[in-house]
This record gives sequence, C-alpha cells and structure tokens, in this order.
Amino acid sequence: MSFSALGLCTELLNTVAEKGYTTPSPIQQEAIPAILSKQDLIAIAQTGTGKTASFSLPILQLLADKPRSEPNCVRALIIAPTRELAAQVAQNVEQYSQNLKVRSTAVFGGVRIEPQKYALAQGVDILIATPGRLLDLYEQGDINFEHLEILVLDEADRMLDLGFIDHIHHIQKLLPEKRQTLLFSATFSKEIKTLATTMLNTPKTIEL
Ligand code: AMP
Repeated sequence: MSFSALGLCTELLNTVAEKGYTTPSPIQQEAIPAILSKQDLIAIAQTGTGKTASFSLPILQLLADKPRSEPNCVRALIIAPTRELAAQVAQNVEQYSQNLKVRSTAVFGGVRIEPQKYALAQGVDILIATPGRLLDLYEQGDINFEHLEILVLDEADRMLDLGFIDHIHHIQKLLPEKRQTLLFSATFSKEIKTLATTMLNTPKTIEL
C-alpha cells in the first residue's frame, strides 16, 4: 500500500516523501480514504500510530481546493485536551501544509491571548485549540464558526478524564450541525461511545 493509493494530491504526496514516510501506517490506510470521502469517523488509536497525519493530511486536502478562510472564520477545528498536545498537533499540521496555501494556528491557555486574537483576525483554515481558551476567544467575539466544515476531537478519552465534557457540549452547540466530525481516542469506553452518539453522524469505526 502506498500513499498515492489513498487518493492524496501531488502536493501532499511530495510532503510525505520529503518527510521520509514511505508507507502509510494502518490507521492512515483506513482513515485517509474515509475522511476524503467526507465520512464521520471514530478511530481508536494510541499516540505513535501516525494518527495525527491520518486526520491532518486529508483535512488539508479537503480545504486546499477552496478559497481561504475569511477574517475570524475557521473551517476546521481540532480540539486537543492539553496545550502540549495542541502545540504538537499544530506543529505537525504546519509541516504537512508546507506545499499548500492553507493557514493554521493554535490557541491554548497559559500564554497571552492577544497574539491569538491577531492570528484569528487574519482568518484561519485549521484551528487547533484547547477547550477553555477556545471558549474564551469565542465569547470575546474572536471566532466565527459559521463556515466550519470539519471538527476533530483528538484524544477524546483524555478530554473526558480532564473534565472537559461540559466544554465539549458547549462547543458543539456553537457549530453548524452539517459538518464532518472525527473522534480519536485511545480507548473505546462507554463514555466515548455516548459522546460519539451525540456528536457524530453514522460514523465509520476503526479499531486497531
Ligand atoms: P503520531 O501517532 O501522530 O503522534 O505520530 C507518531 C510519529 O510517527 C510522528 O513522529 C510522525 O512524524 C511519524 N509518522 C507518521 N506517519 C508516518 C508514516 N507513514 N511513516 C513514518 N513515520 C510516520
């Protein structure tokens, strides 16, 4: 199995080759075609399996063909439980977008909010965020979700462990109902199944 068999565009095939990736990992083989076909997805996968690329690459492709985001608008939102994970995902997305005109930024707590407001004002195609800072910025009028197309919950089980369930439900209410939703979790607990039922629409499930 090669990356080109997964339906990725030339720019992204060049990017993965430049990164030295020769073969897609099992989660990438399953997730990339499903996301490109706009399906909702539950993926049960640990860190280290290549899960970040499994959602970042197809999201970049889905957004790259269309005009860039308008001021304060966001087209894809990736929610992560901690600032460390948000920063790491943002760094990956940045690298994977090197051959495309897609703008991404990260917002998380513990650092000044002003530079984040400035970045959002430019318009962001892919926003990577922790739940608390995301809601702060939304309440201050810095984020418009009207054109949101894709939501990713990364490490959803840790999000629940850290007590973010109310934040997640609050954020869900702010987003368009018609969207693609992707849920990544290391475990497939009862709580994760319940969350998936409330947030996803006839998802494909990948359990590795
Ligand atoms: P992740 O599970 O997303 O944290 O990724 C784990 C590590 O695997 C990261 O350092 C990636 O750069 C790397 N990686 C992701 N996909 C591939 C691949 N197909 N081939 C080789 N390395 C990869």
